[in-house]
Amino acid sequence: MFEIVFLGTGGSIPTERRNLPAIAVRFQGKIFLFDAGEDVQRQYVKAKLGLNHPLYIFISHIHGDHVIGLPGLLLRMALLGRLRPLQIFGSEELIKYVKAIQDSIGLATTFEANVYGIPSDFVFEDDGIKVRAFPVDHRGPALGFELTYERKRGKFHPERALALGIPKGPLWHQLASGHSIELEGRVVTPDEVAEPPPRPLKIVYSGDTRPCDTLRDASRGADVLICEAMYASDKADLAAERGHMTARQAAEIARDAEVRHLFLTHYSPRYEMEDGEPILQEARSIFPNTVLARDLMRVRLSRTDFAIESPPHQ
Ligand SMILES: [Zn+2]
Ligand SMILES: [Zn+2]
Repeated sequence: MFEIVFLGTGGSIPTERRNLPAIAVRFQGKIFLFDAGEDVQRQYVKAKLGLNHPLYIFISHIHGDHVIGLPGLLLRMALLGRLRPLQIFGSEELIKYVKAIQDSIGLATTFEANVYGIPSDFVFEDDGIKVRAFPVDHRGPALGFELTYERKRGKFHPERALALGIPKGPLWHQLASGHSIELEGRVVTPDEVAEPPPRPLKIVYSGDTRPCDTLRDASRGADVLICEAMYASDKADLAAERGHMTARQAAEIARDAEVRHLFLTHYSPRYEMEDGEPILQEARSIFPNTVLARDLMRVRLSRTDFAIESPPHQ
């Protein structure tokens, strides 16, 4: 079961109700954090994410609204005695940024915090989880991320193995590991005793971007697309000029890529008064399965389940 926790859904400027971009994806005790907008540390605590879990941080680009919370989060973890190393992935500029903070305010951590400059086709893999970066079309270098979880093999059925006369032991192990075996002159293949691998689960995060093919391709068939939607269509020119998307454009990508669920985030404070309704309605007219992300909203996702837990309205 995946859990997506929106820690910040604002764009550019935090508002009373929304922090700046940060999305945590929790899976099997590990946390994958995408962007670290201002005050992510308090949101992290409010969301009860815990400060000592295995943590991998992916930064989409070096704009202030996506990185200003990073030093605070590291500082908090250090003050509270985190010992477990963590890894941070982003651009070469991110390395300079973290180093400048460390040098200027003497930020020392109680744990190893390695920052890696990554290419735009970077792939991170860990125990069935794959996070693939892809370039997007913003102002300056910027990345989106595609997180997939894939099981290489389907469920093994001992009763099928027994029915074929295969004795329990090393032969079962070979079949369960995906290898054919030979028994009394007959070859038994893994698909005779195991189900096919389940479909991969996929979560895609756009970062900041204009509509682009790389995002559309990465989103193909995704369970969840988390997409920026800075403006409504009446500000389409502004969106293009500033390297952002309209809600309509986000919804078109979701529709074209046949995603299951679209979550809109990073929408402008100008829609705050109307509670984001213009953004949401515009997107839903094209892609009905659209949700407006809110701070501290949680999404639980597996191959069979999908549930949204919304925080009480503030
Ligand atoms: Zn931004
Ligand atoms: Zn930006």
